[in-house]
Amino acid sequence: MIILSGGTGTPKLLRGMKEILDFFVIVNTAEDVWISGNKICPDIDSVIYALAEIIDEEKWWGIKDDTFKTHETLKKLGFNENMRIGDLDRATHILRSEILRKGQSLVEATKKVARAYGVKQEVFPMCNEEVATIVLTDEGEMHFQEFWVKRKGMPEVRDVYFKGINRAKIPPEVRNIIKKEDEVLIGPSNPISSISPILGVENMREILKNKKVVAISPIIGKNPFSGPAGKFMRAKGFEVSPLGVFKVYEDFLDVLVVDETDSTLTSDKIFATNTIMRSKDDAVKLSEFVLKIFDRI
Ligand code: GDP
Repeated sequence: MIILSGGTGTPKLLRGMKEILDFFVIVNTAEDVWISGNKICPDIDSVIYALAEIIDEEKWWGIKDDTFKTHETLKKLGFNENMRIGDLDRATHILRSEILRKGQSLVEATKKVARAYGVKQEVFPMCNEEVATIVLTDEGEMHFQEFWVKRKGMPEVRDVYFKGINRAKIPPEVRNIIKKEDEVLIGPSNPISSISPILGVENMREILKNKKVVAISPIIGKNPFSGPAGKFMRAKGFEVSPLGVFKVYEDFLDVLVVDETDSTLTSDKIFATNTIMRSKDDAVKLSEFVLKIFDRI
């Protein structure tokens, strides 16, 4: 199975899925940024930390019990990093960037970082090229990280686009896996800022038409469980609801899993169960439910 992932909802699921199945993960890299000389891949880091069982489960980013001494010291010295970077987390960014500086690709760097953390599953970036999520707001254009971290998601959103996506290529290692795997799961991630970039790399959307595809809705009722998915979906002209999520994926989706509180929506293509993952046990149960669906399609 291939799982498409962003950096919060799907990593929660991966922690459960890894207890019952082997899989490959293709991760969004359109939120990546260079800070203080190092490349930060927020979604790849969260996937690796979740699989290595070291993720900070309060925030769902960074490493648990991390300290921020370097970040705070830099601030005292007069340099304010736009993102709060933990000391342990920074070690990951340094390792990745040193591998890249030696001329290796992001695919190779990601593989080495994942192995270094003892992760057994194969984790891939959606591409090796740099892609940036740009949010067009009432205050002008800004990078996703500026919108979400610095401006706390406050500005009105008019559009979202992915700079550099036309030059991005599906890495050969990812193509090989896509050829072999028939089942694709889209975790409960932001359909616009986390999953659309992955679908936008070359002919990924077309490829999915020939696969069995199941997605889990990150929208429950009329709201996302967390994050800016609502604002982004509205800006792209989609209703903020599980049906709106279905619409984003409708050209290739076989089944959408919605939360049990949305069970009125169930049909031959929409199944309901508890999708809120407050614990690893919740994630295991949701993973088992998804596997049963794949058996039926
Ligand atoms: P990002 O890269 O940090 O934006 O993370 P993702 O795109 O992977 O995840 C964000 C999405 O996950 C949001 O739209 C949330 O609504 C959704 N999400 C987070 N936790 C849960 C959960 O426990 N259940 C469900 N169904 N969705 C969740």
